[in-house]
Amino acid sequence: MTKTHPLSKRETSTLYRDLLAWYAEHGRTLPWRARAGEPSDPYRVLVSELMLQQTTVATVTKRFAPFMARFPTLSALAAAPLDDVLHAWQGLGYYRRARGLHACAQTVVERHGGRLPEAPAALEALPSIGPYTAAAVAAIAFDHPVLAVDANVERVLARLFAVETPLPQARAELRRRAAGLTPNERPGDSVQALMDLGASVCRPQRPACTACPLRAHCAAFRLGLADHLPAKAARGARPNRFAVAFYLVRPDGAVLFRRRPPTGLLAGLAELPSTAWTEAPPMATEIAGSAPADCRWEAVPGRVRHVFTHLVLDIELRRGELRGTTPLLEPAPLWCAPQAFDTLALPTLTRKLLAQVAGGA
Ligand code: SF4
Repeated sequence: MTKTHPLSKRETSTLYRDLLAWYAEHGRTLPWRARAGEPSDPYRVLVSELMLQQTTVATVTKRFAPFMARFPTLSALAAAPLDDVLHAWQGLGYYRRARGLHACAQTVVERHGGRLPEAPAALEALPSIGPYTAAAVAAIAFDHPVLAVDANVERVLARLFAVETPLPQARAELRRRAAGLTPNERPGDSVQALMDLGASVCRPQRPACTACPLRAHCAAFRLGLADHLPAKAARGARPNRFAVAFYLVRPDGAVLFRRRPPTGLLAGLAELPSTAWTEAPPMATEIAGSAPADCRWEAVPGRVRHVFTHLVLDIELRRGELRGTTPLLEPAPLWCAPQAFDTLALPTLTRKLLAQVAGGA
C-alpha cells in the first residue's frame, strides 16, 4: 500500500496557488456563484447546496433562478407556505430536501434573526444540514477555513495522496487528508476550485492529468495510478458451482435439448442436459446417472466458465452419439438440428457450450 506524507504548509500553499490560478481561467460560471471579487450570498449558497444533493448541476442550473425569483430571501422562504415551496421544487425531485430547506429557513429566522450562522458546528445544528453542507456553506459563503469534501473532492484527494484503500473504507483517511489540506487563503474559492477540478479534469474516468494544475503535487500521477484510484471495494466473492453438460447427437445430426422450468433462473429457455450444479465437481457416478442416454460419452476438451450475478459456474462437456438401439433417458426430449439452433431461445451459457463443442469437434 502506498503511503504518502501530509503536505507541508509551503507545499499546501503552492498547491492552492496553482489551483486558484487554474480556477481563475477555467472555473465554472454557475447561477448561484458570486462573480469574481464579489462576496457570496449565504442564502443562495445554502439553496444551491441543498438542490445539488442528488441532483445534477445541469438540472439545478435550470431550476435555481425560478426558485430564487419566487423566494428571493431566506425570510421570504421561511414565511412561505410549505406547499408553495414544494411546488417550486418541482423538477428537482427528493422533496425531503425542500421540506428540510423550508424548516431550516424557519429555524434561522426564529433562532438567528434571519442570518445564517457562519461556523460549521452552528450550521450543522440546523435542520437538514449535515457535515458536508455545513462545511460547504461555511467555506463558500463565509470563507471559513474548512475543506468541504463532496464526491469530486474525495476523488481528487484519493489521487493527490495515492490513497489505495478502497472506498468507502478510505473515507476516514480522506477526511484526515482533507483536514491537513485546509485552505487558509480564499477558502471559498479554493473549495469551489477543487470541486470544479474534480468535475472537469480529475474526472472519474480517464483523468486529464496533462491539463491538471495539480500534476506536480499529485502522488497518483507520479506513481501512474491516476486511472486506478479511488479504488473500489471488490464485490463479495461469488460462490463457485460445477456441472457437466451433455451434447447428444442423433443419427440425423439433431442435438438433444431440454427446456428449463417455467420459473426461476433462465426460466423456460432451452439448454443442454446436464448434471445438477454442485459445490464440487461431480463424481463419475453422478455424471453417469445424469447422462440423457446410455451411450459412449467422450470429454470435449476445455471447460466453459459462466459468471452469473450470484455465482460462477464451471461446466465441462461430454459428447455422445445416439445409435438406433441406444435407450434415451431424457424425458420430453427437444431435438434441434445445428442449422436451426438460432430458432431456439438459448441462454448465453448454452450458446457458449455449443461454441465449445464446435471448437473442440
Ligand atoms: S494529476 Fe491527474 S490524478 Fe492527479 S489531481 Fe490532476 S487530474 Fe487528478
